[in-house]
Amino acid sequence: MAISPHDNLALMTVTRFAPSPSGAIHLGNARTALFNWLLARRDGGQFLLRIEDTDAERSSEAYAQQIETDLEWLGLGWDGQIVRQSARSAVYADAFETLERAGRVYPCYCTPLEINISRKSQLAAGKPPRYAGTCRHLTAEQRATREAEGREPTLRFRVPDDGRVEFLDLVHGEQAFQCADIGDFIIRRADGTASFFFSNIVDDALMGVTTVLRGEDHLSNTPRQLLIAMALDLKAPDYGHISLITAMDGSPLSKRAGAKSVAELGADGYLPIALVNQLYRLGHSSDLTGLQDLPTLAQHFNPAHLVRSPARWDPVQLAVWQKDAVHALSADEALAWMRPQLPQGLDESTARAFVAAVQANVVVPQDVADWAAVIFGEGMIQAESGPPATPTLSPDFAAAAITALRTHGADWSALTQAVKAATGAKGPALFKPLRLALTGRDHGPELGPILALMGVERAIARLEASTGP
Ligand code: GLU
Ligand code: ZN
Repeated sequence: MAISPHDNLALMTVTRFAPSPSGAIHLGNARTALFNWLLARRDGGQFLLRIEDTDAERSSEAYAQQIETDLEWLGLGWDGQIVRQSARSAVYADAFETLERAGRVYPCYCTPLEINISRKSQLAAGKPPRYAGTCRHLTAEQRATREAEGREPTLRFRVPDDGRVEFLDLVHGEQAFQCADIGDFIIRRADGTASFFFSNIVDDALMGVTTVLRGEDHLSNTPRQLLIAMALDLKAPDYGHISLITAMDGSPLSKRAGAKSVAELGADGYLPIALVNQLYRLGHSSDLTGLQDLPTLAQHFNPAHLVRSPARWDPVQLAVWQKDAVHALSADEALAWMRPQLPQGLDESTARAFVAAVQANVVVPQDVADWAAVIFGEGMIQAESGPPATPTLSPDFAAAAITALRTHGADWSALTQAVKAATGAKGPALFKPLRLALTGRDHGPELGPILALMGVERAIARLEASTGP
C-alpha cells in the first residue's frame, strides 16, 4: 500500500504549528514553528496554530497562553482562529464512528499493567514491543464480560497484517514501514479523548494542511497516521522530519547545557530576531549570512536544505547574533530595550546620549546596567574582571587631568591634550590609564561621549580615587 506524496503543487501551501501545552516553548519547538512559518510566508500561504490539548491532565491553560505570547514575541503570527483540539471532540467522535462502522477499530480492555507486562516479556525475548493483539478477536460475549468487570476500553486501530506504508519524507527521503511491525495502536483513550496520532492527522487533513515540518521524534508515528488517513479517506500532508537540536557535545539539550525556554531568553533580554537568526541556521543550510529580518529569511528558506544531522545549540553563537541584533536596533528601539536598566528619572536627552554611546558595546541587559553604573553611579567602579579596579595614576598625571577638567569641562580632547603636555604620555600610555581610572575597564565605548555623560564632578572623583601616592 504505497502512499505517494501528494501533488500539492497546485494547492496553496498551508502549514501549522501544533504544540501540546504541556510545557514551555523550548528551542526545538520554536524552530519547528519558525520553519513552518517561513515556508507558509515564502509561498504566500497560510500558517495555522493548533493547540493539541486533548490530554487534559498534561495540558495547562497557562502554557497555552504562553505559546501565543512566545509566537507573537518571535514575530511568528498565525492566520485565522486558533484551533483547540479540546473543543473538537465531536469531530473525533464522528471519525471514530466511521472507523467502527468500517470494522477498522476494536475496543481494547487491557489494563496499563497488562500492557506493561506484555511489553516487558517481548523486550526480554528480544522482540520489539508492540501490542500483542489480545483484544483483536474478542467475541461479543467476551466483550460483555469485560464490560461487566467495569473495564473501560480504549479503541485500537486494526493495522493490516501485511503490506507496507511508504512515503517520501522531505528530509529523510523514501520511507518504508512494514505493517507487521507497527502493532495495533490506541486512537481513543479510556476516558474517551482522542490520542495524539489520531487527532493530529484528522485535524491536519480537515484543516487543509499541505506540509508538516516537525521533529524527527515523530518520524515513526507517521506510518500510523497515514494508515488512519487512508482508513478515513482523508488527504494527509507531506511530512518533513527535522533533526533534533542537541547541546554542543551532542547530548540532549538541557538546562545544564545552557538551553532555556523562549520565555526565559526573552526575560534575559535576548532579542527575538537574534534567536530567530540562530534557529534558522540550526539544521537548515543557507547561503544567507549576517543578521536578516524574517521576510528575507522566508524568501531564502528551502525545505530541501534541511539537513539530517543533529543541529548543535551554541549559547556563545546566540550572543554573537544578539550583539548584531542590538547593533541593528533603531535609536528608539535601543532606548526601549535599555530603559529598564537606566537610572529612574534620567532626562530624555541624556538617556538618548547614553544609548548612542554604548549601543555598540552591549549584548545583554546586564552590560547596559554595568555601563549605567559606570557612567551615572557614584563612587569607584567595580572592575568586571581581569584588570585591577583601582589603577594607580601618578600624581602628576592625575593633577593635570583634574586641572584640565576644571578648566575645560568634560571635554575629552582638551583633557588628553593637557595630560599629554604635562606628562609626555601618549598613545596607550595616555589613554589606558585614563580609561581604567574613569571606567574601571581597559576596553569599552569611545571615551569622549562617556566623559560628557559622566560629567566633571564624577570624573574628578574617580581620578582622585585612582591616584597613587
Ligand atoms: N503536539 C505534537 C508535539 O508537540 C505535534 C507534533 C506535530 O507537529 O505533528 O510534538
Ligand atoms: Zn487489549
